[in-house]
Amino acid sequence: MAIWNLGSINIDMVYALPHMPEPGETLAATSFDQGLGGKGANMSVAAARAGAHACHIGAVGPQGTWTVDRLTEYGVDTRHIARIEAPTGHAIIAVDPAGENQIILFPGANRALTEAQVGQALSAANAGDILLLQNETNMQAEAARIGRQLGLRVAYAAAPFDSDAVQAVLPDLDLLFLNEIEAAQLEQATGTLPQNMGVKDVIVTLGAKGARHYDGQTGVVTDVPALKVVPVDTTGAGDTFTGYVLAALDRGMPMVQAMGLASRAGALMVTRHGAADVIPDLKEVQNAKF
Ligand code: ADP
Repeated sequence: MAIWNLGSINIDMVYALPHMPEPGETLAATSFDQGLGGKGANMSVAAARAGAHACHIGAVGPQGTWTVDRLTEYGVDTRHIARIEAPTGHAIIAVDPAGENQIILFPGANRALTEAQVGQALSAANAGDILLLQNETNMQAEAARIGRQLGLRVAYAAAPFDSDAVQAVLPDLDLLFLNEIEAAQLEQATGTLPQNMGVKDVIVTLGAKGARHYDGQTGVVTDVPALKVVPVDTTGAGDTFTGYVLAALDRGMPMVQAMGLASRAGALMVTRHGAADVIPDLKEVQNAKF
């Protein structure tokens, strides 16, 4: 089986600053670090590191060639990543000495996907494969509809949150991932609890408090606790959790067990600085001592 992930690929450019710049101020950074990021890329890497066949559907511009090479290196199937004449998606991340950050995000190529590209990629999918979507690209609703028609299990991580985007894909979803804030935003926007929206499986992640599964068919609610770690950087924890859950489901693991494995991966992730480049592999996750 496979996981088809229509997702963003970003170049994360991280600048350490003595303080956040004021309007009009020019400020020299004290260090610079460049890495692979974007929720989509993070989730593809997590799914691949967890042992799944992860096929990424996305787009990069000329300066993003290395991001595709790196995804390949991490085990992601990159044949459906288009090379286009647009700026590669990137994030300019300013971090002050207190660890606060400010982020400028430019979606670029991530929002230049076409329905033809998505349809062509998914024509190679098999019924029962998983289609994963988030909200840093365009074409989610079209992809969800195509995925549903092909008999794929359609999963969506509603991040960054956008009420219209969630509601556009909702009718085609089998699995919805939300963090605590997104769950509250969705309830506020619709007046309905996420678990009552007709989606088969809803997972709400609660950071250090773990994650909760709502079975939309039976109404059973199951809590999966988080592991006790000292967090240093929570970037990518939710993306890693999502990729791990789906990789485990894809090889037939029951939901709550899949979430247990994913919570180990999420816990390891918060003990590391960085995003896609530091996502642990299955062996590390299984062998980690907490
Ligand atoms: P997001 O990054 O999308 O906000 P969460 O912060 O809810 O997602 O994290 C996703 C999962 O990662 C959690 O359900 C938990 O299993 C794990 N995790 C996150 N933060 C911590 C933490 N501080 N300690 C242990 N596990 C954590």
